[in-house]
Parts: sequence; structure tokens; C-alpha cells
Amino acid sequence: ATPATKSLGELDSGARPHVMFIPSAGMGHLLPFFRFIASLAGHDDDVDISVVTVLPTVSAAEADHFNSLFAALPHVRRVDLHLLPLNASEFPSHDRDPFIVRWEALRRSAHLLGPLIAGAAPRVSAVITDVTLTSYVIPIAKELGVPCHVLFISCATMLSLNAYFPLHLDKKKKAEQHEQGLAGGIGDVDIPGVRRIPWSCLPQPLLDLNKLFTKQFIDNGRENINADGFLVNTFDALEPAALAALRDGKVVPGFPPVYAIGPLRSQQHSNSAAAEVEKEEDSSPVAWLDKQPARSVVYVAFGNRSAVSHAQIREIAAGLEASGCRFLWVLKTTKVDRDDSAELTDVLGEGFLERLQLGQHGLVTKAWVDQEALLKHPSVGLYLSHSGWNSVTEAAAAGVPLLAWPRGGDHRVNAMVAVSGGVGVWMEHWSWDGEDWLVTAEEIGKKVREVMSDAAVRARATRTGEEAAKAVAEGGTSYRSMQQFISTLKATG
Ligand code: UDP
Ligand code: UDP
Repeated sequence: ATPATKSLGELDSGARPHVMFIPSAGMGHLLPFFRFIASLAGHDDDVDISVVTVLPTVSAAEADHFNSLFAALPHVRRVDLHLLPLNASEFPSHDRDPFIVRWEALRRSAHLLGPLIAGAAPRVSAVITDVTLTSYVIPIAKELGVPCHVLFISCATMLSLNAYFPLHLDKKKKAEQHEQGLAGGIGDVDIPGVRRIPWSCLPQPLLDLNKLFTKQFIDNGRENINADGFLVNTFDALEPAALAALRDGKVVPGFPPVYAIGPLRSQQHSNSAAAEVEKEEDSSPVAWLDKQPARSVVYVAFGNRSAVSHAQIREIAAGLEASGCRFLWVLKTTKVDRDDSAELTDVLGEGFLERLQLGQHGLVTKAWVDQEALLKHPSVGLYLSHSGWNSVTEAAAAGVPLLAWPRGGDHRVNAMVAVSGGVGVWMEHWSWDGEDWLVTAEEIGKKVREVMSDAAVRARATRTGEEAAKAVAEGGTSYRSMQQFISTLKATG
């Protein structure tokens, strides 16, 4: 074997591990990678780290964060991957989500990763990739004799769905004796040992087997059994049943080891300077929050890539005003930040911003904010959220109650976990992306006011925040999982 293809048993014991990260696209996928990389770099400086980087990125936020990572951690190596061109028009026009198309482009360029892994010096001893790429990356790493782990960026319940969904389809097809499609539809998915996911709570594309996302999801789900381990951004106290079922092989027999290492956090050293600069600007969200009473502010954000129609945005605006609560609203009007040229006044309607300025009771921004830091601010009392998984973990870590209004993808599954884990409440009947009706301002205002003053919800969120802190503190479940994982890296390094 050449040094690059030495198998585990042949590696010198005690050698310094070299971990190559192969992340995917979208801030929801990249941020947890960046947090994990910074934490691995800080946990133990006996590790070499490389990060496969694809430029240009889909969004400006992704490019900024890649730059900050390499600036903050100069010893982390950047390995450029030059994507093969992919023409989005080969997919039907309703199936061209720019991030999912980027995942497909990455998958189709995956054969270029072999030489990057094999040619790296020092020799790569482990690969850590994203779940959107596993059906391509795991076989490549295996062929080179390099262990391949997955950093799973959603909850353990979602991991169990990804692992079980192909088996669910096989069973249904067998029951219906159908080779192709499913006459009875996808149906509810009863994940052994975890929970039943009603079909209406599945990521919407999964209801259509011809969708690009669904094909990727099924291929990756089938391949995941061959991974060497899963690192999941969750903690044992938040999802005890799902974690136990995955680890006991109830979901899929022989499933790889699952390390719950969350909630992942930013490392303070890497962005404290930026936070200071932001503080100095009087108009910054932090400066504005500094002037508000404790727990008086509703933080409102729907992630980076959630479609909320302009009509619904106006209902939210009127609802927030009607709630009588102070609010900080991070408003994105497009899936990709580079496309967002809308003026706030046009989106929110005449008079709204003027009234905010006069009353000083709210702030709306289209800028990228440090959400993790904002949620920890003592003035924040509630988070009206799309329940993207990173956002749920950040609310959990901050002990801030979540008012979940899922929009699409894994959000409803995440909302189930948010409720069972004590992070907050879920408006189950509120609209889902693709549904053609609006949740009214009146209902939004009423609910915000109600949850904001619900002491029981707040007490549960505080307890969950304490559990989260315990998990990552020295000796906690996530801390120990991380140590265990590092030992595995060293044993195979
Ligand atoms: N985020 C942020 N500032 C912004 C917008 C988003 O820090 O202006 C972060 C947010 O804190 C979270 C991530 O981007 O960590 C979004 O991931 P999530 O899984 O919550 O939702 P997605 O955007 O993938 O739907
Ligand atoms: N996902 C998965 N396997 C795949 C692709 C996606 O488990 O092959 C998960 C992914 O981690 C995310 C969820 O499916 O939690 C839904 O993805 P969505 O369309 O909402 O995009 P995202 O929020 O990840 O940007």
C-alpha cells in the first residue's frame, strides 16, 4: 500500500491524526462544521485538520464564514475542490432549489475527492463529511482505506428517519407488491424505537419519489450503515429515545456508533473581536438589545433559506405590533442572500418602520446577525422560529423558549423534538411552505403574547438550558462523547 492508502491496522500507533472535512452547502450545514472544526482544533492541538472548500459558494454568508474560519485558525489547511459544471436546467423548474442543486453538483464531482484524500500530506487518517454527500464519499474513503465519519447537522430523530426511510419504502412496496411507485402514498413512517412521523410532518419533497432531494436522501440513507460513526449535534437528555434506538440497532441493525456531541457552539476566540466591533455601533442588534428590559424581547427569525411570502410577512409584522411585545426581527426575503435586493419598506408596507422608530419597541434587520450570541442576550424572552435544527440547539443552549412555526424540510420533525425536549411549543396547525393560506396577524399576536408570559414554558426551557450546559461541561455526556471520538481518531491516526 502507498502511504495514502494504508489501512487502519497498518498505521503507526500514536501517529498524529489528520482529519479531512468534506462539508456540503448552506449555512445550516456549514455552521455546525465550522463550530465542530474550531472545537476539534481547540480540544486538542495534536490533530491536523484540512477542509475541502468549494468556491464560489452559493451564498455570501457561506463565503464570509469560510474566510473567517481560515483567518481564525491559520493552521487549518484549505483544500480547494473545483466543481464540475452542472446545468440546473437538467432538473424540472420546480425542483431547482439552489442548495439542493449544489449538493448534487458536489455529489457528481465526488470522484475528484479521491486524489485530494490520497494526495494529502500528512496522510489523511479520517474523513468527516456531511449527510448530503455520503453515498458518494463513503465508498471513496473506503476504497482508500480511510475511515469515514458523518457530522449530522440535524437531530438524532432526523438521522433515524434518514436511516429508516429506505426500509420503510421497501416494506411498503413489498406489501403493495409494487415494483415502481407507491399506490397508497408514502404514508406515516413508524421508526422502530423512536416515534411515528405522520406523513404530513415529513420534509415535503419526500412525498414525491422523483424529487432530486428524495433520491439523494434515499441513496444516502442506504449508504449510512457503512459510515464509521455519526457525530450528531444533539445531547442525550434532549433525545434519549432516538439516541438509544440508533445505538441499540433498533432503527437499523448494525448502525454505526453515534456520538451525541451537541449543542455545538462557536468558540469565543474566533469571533469576539467582531462582536466588540458590532457592540460599538449604536444601531446594531446587540446595542439595541442592551437597552431593553430583561426577557422583554421576542427574537424572530426563520433561518437562511425559508420561503415566507410577502403577504405572510405583513401578517407577521402586524401580529408582532399587535402583541404589544418588543421584537427583534431578522428578515430574509429570498433563499439566497445575494438575491435579496428587496427594500424593507416595500416588504413591510408604509408606516411600519416609522412606527418602530418612534416607539423604539422593535428592530428589523436584513443583515447577517450573530444569532447564537443574540439568543444568549438577557433581554431575549422568546424565539419565534422556523425550527431549523441549528436554531433549535441555539435556543436550547440559551434556555430561551421557542415558539416553533415550521416552514419546510426537517422543521416539523425538529419541532416535535423541541416540544418533547422542553425547548418550547409548536404551532402544529400553522401553515407549511406550499400551503396557500395565511396565519393571521391576530393569531400570531395572541400566541406570541401568550407564550411570552407562560411561566411553565419558560421554566422548562430554563431546565433544558441547564441540561445543555451540563452535557458540554467537563464530564458531561457530550463532552465525554467528544473525548471518545478524539480517542478513536487517535487510535486510527
Ligand atoms: N444564522 C445566523 N445569522 C443569521 C441567519 C442565520 O447566525 O442572520 C444562523 C443560525 O443561528 C443558525 C443557522 O444560521 O445557526 C441556520 O441554520 P438552521 O438549521 O437554524 O436553519 P436553516 O437556515 O438551515 O433553515
Ligand atoms: N438530509 C438527510 N439526508 C440527505 C439529505 C438531507 O438526512 O441525504 C437531512 C438534512 O440533514 C436536513 C433535512 O434532511 O436535516 C432536510 O433538509 P432541508 O431540505 O430542510 O434542507 P436544509 O435545512 O438541510 O438546508
